[in-house]
Amino acid sequence: MTEPGCSLLSSGPADEDREWTMEDYASALARWCPGCGDHAVLTATERVLETEQLPPEQTVFVSGIGCSSRFPHYLRTYGFHGVHGRALPIATGVKLRRPDLHVFVVMGDGDCCSIGAGHWIHATRYNLDMVALLLDNGVYGLTKNQTSPTSPQGKPSNTQPRGAILPPINPLSATLGVTNVSFVAQTGDWLPAHMYETILAAYRHRGFAFVRILQRCPQYTTDLFEGAVRDPGLVELLVHPDGVTVPSLDRIYKNRREHDPADLDAARRLAEPEGKIRLGVFYRNETLPVYDETRRTPTLSSAQK
Ligand code: SF4
Repeated sequence: MTEPGCSLLSSGPADEDREWTMEDYASALARWCPGCGDHAVLTATERVLETEQLPPEQTVFVSGIGCSSRFPHYLRTYGFHGVHGRALPIATGVKLRRPDLHVFVVMGDGDCCSIGAGHWIHATRYNLDMVALLLDNGVYGLTKNQTSPTSPQGKPSNTQPRGAILPPINPLSATLGVTNVSFVAQTGDWLPAHMYETILAAYRHRGFAFVRILQRCPQYTTDLFEGAVRDPGLVELLVHPDGVTVPSLDRIYKNRREHDPADLDAARRLAEPEGKIRLGVFYRNETLPVYDETRRTPTLSSAQK
């Protein structure tokens, strides 16, 4: 368990007027590999904390095990570097006990989509008011190049040297298929402005906000997103007033598709990539019951009737 620095723990009147800056949220120097996409995700997240002026002592980052799960060590908020695959149950406990806290969950693809898959499904169904970031690089990086559930079929690794045998799981489709799903988005670490807006939208969503971040691992999956990084024509941006719009990308990213995030059927269709990497908000629904609210309410919410 990591704690904010002592100077950040006091919550007297002086803190109410305090303006938090990105420097206030930064902690130890991040020790991911040079060029690792995790660095960009950390910076985008710090920007969101600053934009929303989240007090560090009211904010918690929970992670599992993996490269990205070092996240809590690099932030001066509360943090819980948990157990492999168990970030979501830990975060659920935090949120149920302290619904006043801002809870973020950081998981890798091995963490969330393999050993943690059961928790992922039920966290989506419980629809607790928190943000879940899936940093998906298609490999177990910390354990040095093992096939993960999102590794592309045929990709060689130390555990499957002749190539991944099975086709990869689709985290977007899987999440969109769960009862009570309320927010699903996808972004890429090479588009920091889009990533920032997406994490911000996720934080502002009331309910369980699942964000898949396509994350580059220059050590073991160098080529995974390289085509899309070099050729904006391989990317399609989902745009809508209720989604994420980034005007600074308009000139370069010409492939744009109007998609109303309220349309679940369309979201499920678009989750199948069809040769393109689609980025944006696939689905958003704030009318669904949020578990940390409904469990304190004796009657059924109107959405359940
Ligand atoms: Fe990042 Fe890959 Fe290095 Fe892990 S092994 S820190 S995911 S570049």
